[in-house]
Amino acid sequence: MDLLAALADLVLPGACVGCAAERVPLRYGACEVCAEFLTALVPFATAPVPPPPGLPPCTAAGAYAGPLRGALLAYKERGRHRLARPLGVLLAGSVARAALRAGGGRSEPLLIVPVPSTARAIRERHGDHMTRLARHAVRRLRASGWRAELHQPLRALPRPDSATLDAPGRAKAAESSLTIRPSRIRVLQRRMMIGGTLIVVDDIVTTGATLAAVATRLSEANMQVTGAATLAATRLRRARPPRTGDFRHMSRAGSKVPLSGS
Ligand SMILES: [Zn+2]
Repeated sequence: MDLLAALADLVLPGACVGCAAERVPLRYGACEVCAEFLTALVPFATAPVPPPPGLPPCTAAGAYAGPLRGALLAYKERGRHRLARPLGVLLAGSVARAALRAGGGRSEPLLIVPVPSTARAIRERHGDHMTRLARHAVRRLRASGWRAELHQPLRALPRPDSATLDAPGRAKAAESSLTIRPSRIRVLQRRMMIGGTLIVVDDIVTTGATLAAVATRLSEANMQVTGAATLAATRLRRARPPRTGDFRHMSRAGSKVPLSGS
């Protein structure tokens, strides 16, 4: 079945992952317009309102909408694994921005910890989508002169569906689902001792509960998370009408994060 799908993709390029346009030339599954849109994204500081306790300063490559949402869904839910490379480049930009915001620089280690996936998610998605994304981001950052390293000191245990939980309940469920991998945490602790910027990465930030849980677990192991970087930021849906500032997109007008050059 996978082979048939792959062959079909070769014969019929399929629809653009960003806008579903058909019969257009595609690069990594995106049409020219969507590819240009994704290339032009500028990472920005973002924070859910209210931010959960323990959430580090958070940066996103773009809003969870339009071509970015389409590409992320195609990658995550429809098995378009080749999108890991362009999405990894976007994540790298978000990580670089997060590191610079925190005063980090290319001269010191940039320690990247992806939010761990549960075994079930890895099975269902035919691989660990966050690890794959983070690897591409690390590769891109290194190519741009950053001393980026991938670290995976946490394991994710199955957790109940959090959709019905309130904010404190979600935070508790997220935290209790994360366990420390002792040998790997020691490696990270040693790296932190010589100094470095520790950035947690995830695909999407919505309530911030997961990122806050990871930061809390790491701080329990005496590691201060410097920041969080994601591909996309979701606007929270609320019962009351939205207000300006429900989701703060700060430094929107900021210049593009310099991945290369000095
Ligand atoms: Zn498109």
